[in-house]
Parts: sequence; C-alpha cells; structure tokens
Amino acid sequence: MQTETIKSKLEDGGRISRGEAEWLWQNATDEDLIALANIVRRRFHKANLATYLLMRIINYTNICVAKCDYCSFYRLPRDKDGYVRDNHWIFSKIDELSAVGGDLFAFNGGFNPQLKIEYYEELFTAIRKKYGDTIEFYAMTVVELLYVARLSKLSTPEALARLKAAGVRWVTGGGAEILADPFRLRHSPQKYTVAEYMETQGDILDAGLHTTGTMVIGFDESLEERLDHLQTVREFQDSRLASGKEGLFSFLCWTYKPYNNELGGKEIESGEYLRHLALCRIYLDNIKHLRTSVLTQNKAALQGLRYGADDFDIPWEDEVTQMAGAVVERDVERVLGYAHEAGFKTAYRHVASNSLVRTK
Ligand code: SF4
Repeated sequence: MQTETIKSKLEDGGRISRGEAEWLWQNATDEDLIALANIVRRRFHKANLATYLLMRIINYTNICVAKCDYCSFYRLPRDKDGYVRDNHWIFSKIDELSAVGGDLFAFNGGFNPQLKIEYYEELFTAIRKKYGDTIEFYAMTVVELLYVARLSKLSTPEALARLKAAGVRWVTGGGAEILADPFRLRHSPQKYTVAEYMETQGDILDAGLHTTGTMVIGFDESLEERLDHLQTVREFQDSRLASGKEGLFSFLCWTYKPYNNELGGKEIESGEYLRHLALCRIYLDNIKHLRTSVLTQNKAALQGLRYGADDFDIPWEDEVTQMAGAVVERDVERVLGYAHEAGFKTAYRHVASNSLVRTK
C-alpha cells in the first residue's frame, strides 16, 4: 500500500522523506525499487541510454598517516615499500590510457606528510603543460585536499586558488565512505568529521571547481548511518541549488573490499548493492547523475543501470581497491556488452571536451 502512495508522489514530481526511504529499504521488493528508481531517473535521462567513460586512477603515493582500519593500501613514512611516483611514471600512465581512448585520470594517494601544496602545484602544472585540454583529471579527493591545505598552513580556499592556478578543474568526493561521525570515529578518526568534509565540498564549488558525491557501503555501518549519509548529501545539494549555485555533478556508490586490511569482514552481496543504488536514485532526486561501480561490482554493476544508475566508468587501474580484492576488467567491449544485455545503449562521455561520442 505504501509503495503505491510513494509511486504517486514521485509521479507527481514529489520526493520521499527519510522515513519513507527507511520503509522502502526494509519492505519494498526489488521490482518496486526498480520501478520507483526509474521514475526519478526519467526526470533526467533517456530511459534506455547509459553513459560511460574510460578512466585510470593514478596512485602517486601510498604513504599515508591516516591509518584507516579498512585500508589495504597505505604504508607509513618509514615503511620500505612506501613510494612517491615521479612525473615520468605518471606521464607513462596517462599515455597508456590515452592510447586506448581514455581521457580521465583520478589522482589518489594518501596523507603524505612530505607532500605540501608545492608538490601538487608542480605536478598539475606539468600535466597541463604536456597535455593541455586533451585530458581531464580529478586532482585529489576532498580529504586529501583538506590534509594538504592544513599541512601547508593554508585555508582551504587559499589552497584551492593555488591548485586552480595550476590547472585543476575537478576534485573528487573520495574519502566520504560513510558520512556519519560515529562511523568515522570507529574506522577513520583522522579522516575528518562530516562537517569538515561537507564544508570542504562547499569550498571546492565556491572556488569554481567541480566535485562529485561518493559513498562506500558494506563495512559495519548501520542503516541509520547509511541514511545519515544520504540525508547529509541531499541537504547539501538542496542548499546549493536553492541559492543558485553549482552542486555535486554526480553521486557514485561502491562497495567495501575486505581483504588485506585490519578491519576484514565479508563482502556484501551484489543484490544489496543494487537495492542501495535504487534507494540512492529515489532519495537523491536533486543530483543528476547516479554512477554504478564496475570497479567493485564488475558484471553486476551494469545491472545497476536497471536500478536507476545512468553512468559508469571502466577503470583501467586502481591500486587502492585492487589491493583490497577488486578485480579490474579491461575488456571494454565485454563491459559494454553487459550494459547492452541489461537493455541499454551506451555513449562514451568525453570528460575533457564535455561531449558524448561513440554511441552504440
Ligand atoms: S583510506 Fe586513504 S586516508 Fe585512509 S589510510 Fe588509506 S590511503 Fe590513507
């Protein structure tokens, strides 16, 4: 009965409350969630079209002092296998993906106490000088930005102004995991509070840069904590849009991989991920793009298009999740085939030129 009420509300352009989101999670069938998610999806996108991009995460350093218990990637400053990659190595990673048609790169390292703002200015200036506008990159995650600003004794707006001058246009919403302070205290107490994270998101947008929303599920988070995350993101986007400002470009959710780290545990089923994607699409009705995670869900991620997602990337490499158990699928045609099997045409979203190409 309540599903019908929610359906009518969505069809009239309305939105669900947090209580209704909770009710849906606990009671709705998959078919109901798919139907409701697609009502919201159709407000933004053609029913049978999905966009994708080919991207590579460039792990420029693995040295990090944050010591999150779910992380399989970090090394401490004195560890023998810690590294900081040089420009030659970074350029070779860019060239390799460019050669197969990819144009998006995401820099992801850690809280490395040796790398102040000058390191990033020099790196990004060198990349823009070599590649101009032919590629695009996510310069760092929200939490790395906050760490570097504080390490360099700069306010976040000051750090952003310097990065922008070095050619940065995008930061990614990485480091959100679960936006609920009790969760962050349990697992990543160095990784900033929800308020600090969201304030930084606002600073990035106010500086004229773009940013994204992210979430990771499948640790030990409660339903309340997942809903806290969604509510925080929706309220943030509401307040941006209500004042006529740019908001989050997209929202990407992926799943925790429990191997080779302190926290351990068990992976959640893909079915749970897909239901959560649908809930995200229904509840986050003010963010245009909902992205599904091929990196952590492989073939099942493309089923996510049926559950309300409209966009995905085919990742070429990401040491962080691969060390925790993710398996990278580099066969582009095979991944696109999964999307086609799910009933979708695909169009390559060229981030550097902000255009769609190669539809099939
Ligand atoms: S998840 Fe990121 S911030 Fe946390 S320990 Fe790993 S590299 Fe550091």
